Amino acid sequence: MKLTTKIFIGLILGAAVGLALHFWAPDLFETLDAWFFNPLGTIFLNLIKMLVVPIVFFSITLGVASLGDPKKLGRIGGKTIAFFLVTTTIAISIAISLAYLFQPGSGDFDTSGANYESQEAPGVVETFTNIIPTNPVQAMTEGNMLQIIAFAIFIGFALAMLGRKTEGVMKLVEQGNEIMMFLVNLIMRFAPYGAFGLLASAIGTMGLDGAAAMAAYMLVVLLALFVHLVVVYGSAVSILGKMNPIKFFKGFFPAFTVGFSTSSSSSTLPVSMKTAQENLNVPKPISSFVQPLGATINMDGTAIMQGVATIFIAQVYGTDLAFTQLVMVVIVAVLASIGTAGVPGVGLIMLAMVLNQVALPVEGIALIIGIDRLLDMTRTAVNITGDAACAVVITESEKKHGISEQKPAEQIAE
Ligand code: ASP
Repeated sequence: MKLTTKIFIGLILGAAVGLALHFWAPDLFETLDAWFFNPLGTIFLNLIKMLVVPIVFFSITLGVASLGDPKKLGRIGGKTIAFFLVTTTIAISIAISLAYLFQPGSGDFDTSGANYESQEAPGVVETFTNIIPTNPVQAMTEGNMLQIIAFAIFIGFALAMLGRKTEGVMKLVEQGNEIMMFLVNLIMRFAPYGAFGLLASAIGTMGLDGAAAMAAYMLVVLLALFVHLVVVYGSAVSILGKMNPIKFFKGFFPAFTVGFSTSSSSSTLPVSMKTAQENLNVPKPISSFVQPLGATINMDGTAIMQGVATIFIAQVYGTDLAFTQLVMVVIVAVLASIGTAGVPGVGLIMLAMVLNQVALPVEGIALIIGIDRLLDMTRTAVNITGDAACAVVITESEKKHGISEQKPAEQIAE
């Protein structure tokens, strides 16, 4: 049986078992969750998380070093960021339009007990200046993705410039990358069981609580995610990437399911890179550069949730947003989704920033927090698909410049 099928079965079985226990044997669920489901899921999560920092470092260094020339890097970087910004803006616009069309917040909602402590979101300038790490080792121990990316770009650039002189280090980075990719393959064999554990634990804990009351909101978010996935990524991949969208979605499906079960773009990164390189023929230098960056700053699914949630909360509290405020929502949600770390639940924390901007009550978050776990899974899967779509598009557009699959060490040896 194919791995993808196995993961999918793991997901469905996990959800079914979790749901059944939630309703019929909650006590049994607690014991099973403590001793089996939760540990099983956590082991899988830890296994892939273990690889994230070394993979980001090795692969970006290697990617930048093999691109070699800074002009090429600038061109790919520019196109990547443009793709991220445009798709995220489209994502929020779809979300806002659907929220206006379906009015999920027009029913009766009890807001009297709503209570939500918002966390301080970092400022825009601070976020930008912090990209440069003052201590790269600390950035790695803290898992600060943007800082690790910045450091790796510098090292990769230096390796490219120094050529023969640093051949040894180049080999080390290359082989380090090989080791990591080998381990991803190994760990993925455990993915079906991990997905089972994660789903059983999550669904068993929350059941369908709150889902009925929040059905309209959930459906609008899911619909917007679906439209974005199929229409925007589907057409980007086929028109700009010259790839059959069905091949794209099928090829990327293993990573999609892992994103869904882990709710974390950054934990899924090792798997999504491997999947894009092997199933979607994205050359390593492009995948290594586009996907880690995307997993950190490109979150269309998150932006969609933030867009729908903002309009939903405005409707619940009976506030009309003027057109200029809507434009503000789009701009701030793009920034908020960029600032969202690729770990579970952060999108909801960053939502406070959007609500503050248009003077909506942050307490509104209390209404949607209960069902956010399920939506987090779905939006994370969409988030990482966006990065893969970008990688496919960049691959096509770089063809005319001849991106080489040649190993950097061979280039140096020549
Ligand atoms: N969990 C999401 C991700 O990792 C971020 C979020 O929206 O909370 O992509």
